[in-house]
Amino acid sequence: MSRLPVADRRAVRRALRELIVRDRRAVLVVLALHGAAAIAGLAPPWLLGTIIDRVTAGAGAATVDRLALAICGCVLTQALLSRYAQYAGHRFGERAVAHLREEFVRRTLGLPVSVVERAGSGELAVRSSIDVSTVGTTVRDVVPTIVIASLQLTLLFGAIFLLHPLLGLVALAALPSIWAVTRWYLRRASSAYLAEGAAAAELTETLTATAEGARTVEALRIADDRIRHGTARIARLWATRRATLALRTVFFTVVEASYPLPVAAVLLVGGYLFSRGMVSLGAVAAAALYLQQAIEPLDRLLQWTEQAQRGLASFARVLGVGLVASEPPGTAATSRGDRLVVRGARFAYAAGHDVLHGIDLDVRPGERLAVVGPSGAGKSTLARLLAGIDAPRQGVVSIGGCPVTDLDPAERRRRIALVTQEHHVFIGSVRDNLAFAAPDASDDEMRSALRTVGADWYAELPDGLDTPIGDGARQLGAAEAQQLALARLVLADPHTLILDEATAALDPTTARRTERALAAVLTGRTVIAIAHRLNTAHDADRVAVLSDGRITEIGSHHELVRADGAYAALWRSWHAEAPGGATR
Ligand code: ADP
Repeated sequence: MSRLPVADRRAVRRALRELIVRDRRAVLVVLALHGAAAIAGLAPPWLLGTIIDRVTAGAGAATVDRLALAICGCVLTQALLSRYAQYAGHRFGERAVAHLREEFVRRTLGLPVSVVERAGSGELAVRSSIDVSTVGTTVRDVVPTIVIASLQLTLLFGAIFLLHPLLGLVALAALPSIWAVTRWYLRRASSAYLAEGAAAAELTETLTATAEGARTVEALRIADDRIRHGTARIARLWATRRATLALRTVFFTVVEASYPLPVAAVLLVGGYLFSRGMVSLGAVAAAALYLQQAIEPLDRLLQWTEQAQRGLASFARVLGVGLVASEPPGTAATSRGDRLVVRGARFAYAAGHDVLHGIDLDVRPGERLAVVGPSGAGKSTLARLLAGIDAPRQGVVSIGGCPVTDLDPAERRRRIALVTQEHHVFIGSVRDNLAFAAPDASDDEMRSALRTVGADWYAELPDGLDTPIGDGARQLGAAEAQQLALARLVLADPHTLILDEATAALDPTTARRTERALAAVLTGRTVIAIAHRLNTAHDADRVAVLSDGRITEIGSHHELVRADGAYAALWRSWHAEAPGGATR
């Protein structure tokens, strides 16, 4: 199974830049507000230093009161600015996430069907749910926190430098050790935590298996073996836990130890500078307070760095979906006519294993062709080639003289419709479910389409076309879902229809009635029906028998019965087995 690609670092950086640039005014406002709040936060320590200096110089209570009032004013201003900064930041984040989600949906819908099928729906589901929401948190919370914390730290250290350059240098003393230990930790953390998660999952699996299979364990007397197995798993988990604990022990110890160190150094160097009269007492006090203030943003920065890395990994996976070449726009001008011609078509899912070995087929417009054959003969594969979902490895499938895969995808879907056994009912009203086949269809047309396909249940819906259906609302059964899909087909009214056991979920009588009603509505349309009920073959203009990737017989029902070949045998045995289903 081929995986969907993952974007590289450059692409992730570019995408992040684009997110910021497309909403740059909001980003500037957020940055300006946070910057102003941080500057307002710088004032109190400086004012406190001023109080100390003034009091030392003999100032009275009135000066202290005035300065204390100024401190209160600054704190209040900071709180207000922070509040608006957060608000603006979240609004930006929500807009960015909404944009990301929309982009993701657009890209996903642009993926060629064959790519989605090969990657598996799980892969796409994880990317569209877990990854997109991780990116959402990152864009909304993590990136702003990191940007703001960095801004605050720059301003705080800048302020210490302004007080005295030497104090600034001393204050930076702790940063190299924090930087080094963070790098050391991050390099090891993700693999260590992944290993811990995997070991925990394995242990749970082992214990659950032993508990659920307790009787078997007893019957086979393998309790000792299971205990050994469990103990080994516990030992693995213990080892991986110790590994992560060791990482945390080093990381947090170094970080925690790094915090008081520069404060002490600033006090020490500050005391020396003060004794030489090079700096005021207030300045030393302010510098120590700034350092104390820096701990909180530094902590936040460290905490969120790991989360940011996880977010970037998810972002790379989300962007990877966009790296799949979307369906190429058609290279062909619109083809002339609707004659479907297959010449020498070969196809393989895996290299070297052809499933179709040179198919030749001519279907004239308006013809009804039934394709029958044993399971695994390649009928569904042929249907996919005819619908242009896959291109033949060799040979050509053309409509009106133009290869189907060269048609513009939108044009191709408008002209050729493939209906399989798998139907999806979208959450929404009946009308919504029908409208995407024909957005302009009137209510009457929708009702008549439902009637045509025998969807009698429609009459009992409480709100008619507005009745909500799908998960969480009225659930449709397999047969009802199939009828809905067929009603869509009637509304879409394509020139060529490929029905791959499209009535398999209906009971034989309803299926036959529906097929006949469809045939009446779709007069003049080319219909290729892959059928496991031979009624369909009986009613068709021609029948093609597919066997082991080759068309072995082709002709009208009567011709083939007369020829007394494989189809005739199939018809006789089916007729004998299902007389009820075969009645006209
Ligand atoms: P039918 O519709 O006649 O039952 P299919 O066209 O589904 O036959 O399958 C033809 C052959 O191709 C089978 O051998 C099947 O195992 C194989 N095949 C079908 N789909 C895939 C796929 N997605 N990947 C690999 N092999 C496939």
